Amino acid sequence: MIRPQDPASFRTHPAEQAALSRSQFDAFSRQLPLLYVILVINSLAVAVTHAAIAPAWLSIWLPAAMCTACAIRLVVWVRRRQRLASLTDEEVAARLKTTVRLIALLGAAFTGWGLMLFPYGDPYARAHVAFYMSITVIGCIFCLMHMRKAALLLTAIVIVPFSLFFSLTHNAVLVAIAINMLLVAVAMILVLLTYYRDFANLVASKHALQAKQAELQRLSDENSRLANLDNLTGLPNRRRFLADLDALFQTAQAQHARFAVGVIDLDGFKQVNDLYGHGAGDRVLEEVGRRLLDRSGPRIRLARLGGDEFGLLVTDVREPQDLRDIGAAICETLRAPYAWPGATARLSGSLGFAIYPDAGVSPAQLFERADYALYFAKEHRRGGTTIFSAEHEKQIRELGQVEQALRQADLEHEMTLHFQPIVDVVRDRVVSYEALARWNSPTLGSVAPSLFIKVAERSDFIHAVTVALLRKVLATMHQSDPAVRVAFNLSARDIGSAEAVANITDVIRESGIEPSRLTFEVTETAVIQDFEQASASLHAFKRLGVHISLDDFGTGYSSLTCIHRLPLDKIKIDRGFLDRIDADGAAQDIVRSIVELCRSLELICVAEGVQTQAQAKVLRGLGCTAMQGFYFGMPMPFDEQALVA
Ligand code: C2E
Ligand code: CA
Ligand code: CA
Repeated sequence: MIRPQDPASFRTHPAEQAALSRSQFDAFSRQLPLLYVILVINSLAVAVTHAAIAPAWLSIWLPAAMCTACAIRLVVWVRRRQRLASLTDEEVAARLKTTVRLIALLGAAFTGWGLMLFPYGDPYARAHVAFYMSITVIGCIFCLMHMRKAALLLTAIVIVPFSLFFSLTHNAVLVAIAINMLLVAVAMILVLLTYYRDFANLVASKHALQAKQAELQRLSDENSRLANLDNLTGLPNRRRFLADLDALFQTAQAQHARFAVGVIDLDGFKQVNDLYGHGAGDRVLEEVGRRLLDRSGPRIRLARLGGDEFGLLVTDVREPQDLRDIGAAICETLRAPYAWPGATARLSGSLGFAIYPDAGVSPAQLFERADYALYFAKEHRRGGTTIFSAEHEKQIRELGQVEQALRQADLEHEMTLHFQPIVDVVRDRVVSYEALARWNSPTLGSVAPSLFIKVAERSDFIHAVTVALLRKVLATMHQSDPAVRVAFNLSARDIGSAEAVANITDVIRESGIEPSRLTFEVTETAVIQDFEQASASLHAFKRLGVHISLDDFGTGYSSLTCIHRLPLDKIKIDRGFLDRIDADGAAQDIVRSIVELCRSLELICVAEGVQTQAQAKVLRGLGCTAMQGFYFGMPMPFDEQALVA
């Protein structure tokens, strides 16, 4: 609670003293012109009644000079009042000081004049002077209510000589007037002191209230600043980004303007966290924040959305090329090395854009589509920029249809498995088969596994798909020669939780199939998503006796350290390297180094996607002995396949 302060303590605070001076100045400057008007009119009245009886210098020239001085001060004050706001505290204090001095001077001058005029004229004229002096001083003291010092000074300067002068006349009436005047003056001083104290207290309360309000405002500003800022990078946070997106959307809608929403995701950030720890991860994010802040400007606003995801808003978008240039510049800044004592990392950023109004009719839709464009960039243009297009919209629709059909599918009956042989080319025999899922939907027809697995992986639905397919594989293995080994693909989510691992383990145990006949294939990218959990899951399967194979090797970013920490048995070279292996020296070098890596880590190396004899020959020359591909055998149903080891 704010209490009025004691004026004595009040004076000790310079800020509060300044506030008091300013309030005094304000109140006082409203009343001072009145003081001069009273003074001038009353004095002129006395001058007129004495014009004929007193000498001219005393009844005309002296009052004329004093009244002119008063008139000048009156004008000065009227003008000054209008400029109060522009005056500094020091100027206000200085003017108040001068005014107190001037008032004392004027008080002395008018009192002296009145007393000098008194001896002239008849008793009426004398009574007029006595009346003039007493009524004028009362009027003036009232006008000086807010200036305690000036009021007290004026009272002393006028009343003391007035009372002394009239008491010494020994005229009973005048002595009575002097005593009356003295009593009234004392009463007025008491009233004035009380009034002034209340005034000072009021000013103090007002000042304290204003200070408190300013402090509250500052705290609330600081709070909303912090609530909208990301601690680590200093960039605006997700909440601020979404609010800005909303605001930008409203303006763009009203002005028919174009703008773009972008989402950036760092490629390779998880590895930095896994390899060097979270401290290093934080440093990298700080540096990313600095680089992105450098790219922010009036047209481009960047924010951290969370984790290694950043958002941007671009206004004034004319051509998609414009966005591509912005995206390219951002991707380039992010590609520069990140160094800290003891290590250096290289990352890249993938970026997805959605343009209003082409790509969406609400902030949420634009954000969702920018996210889709990012997802597309990560899959097809890692480290680059993708702008959401009609083609993406078509894909989203298709994915939606696939998801609907998949959720309603009878997995047991609609899903089947094809098996593709993996061959040992040295001994010229099939060593195992890779089980590949096939889905024949009653509504969509045959759907490619790359598509429906991706759709299922977007939700926990993949667990049901995996378990249904695994049961089928195990059932098939039951009917086949016990020597037949099968490789089965697991998705990222299957190794992303202990619960999923426990489920899969139960299915294998229930089947009675010897776990060592099974190999689980997991992709590099699946492992990288959550390395610690993936590693724990793979170790659990390994303990059960299942073999582990790292699929699509070379497409992800796994480091040697990662590979070393996983309980692997095989590495499968991604078929992307095989496309031009018979002609491309660089592709051969990569495959050779992977083969050598496998040899030194004592892992089996499988080349997949072998389609021609020429490819098989080159691979054999590079030291690769296990191969898979259309050249050796197409994926086929179990009954058409002679499943023999
Ligand atoms: P993947 O694990 O890399 O499987 C190999 C893919 O390469 C298969 O495609 C196979 O048909 C194809 N392939 C084999 N030899 C050749 C060749 O010589 N040339 C070419 N161009 N392709 C060849 P498919 O069956 O369409 O499967 C695609 C992807 O879907 C698989 O890639 C795998 O990631 C996923 N997938 C398939 N079945 C399952 C499953 O049961 N569970 C999970 N989680 N994913 C599966
Ligand atoms: Ca595979
Ligand atoms: Ca593969």
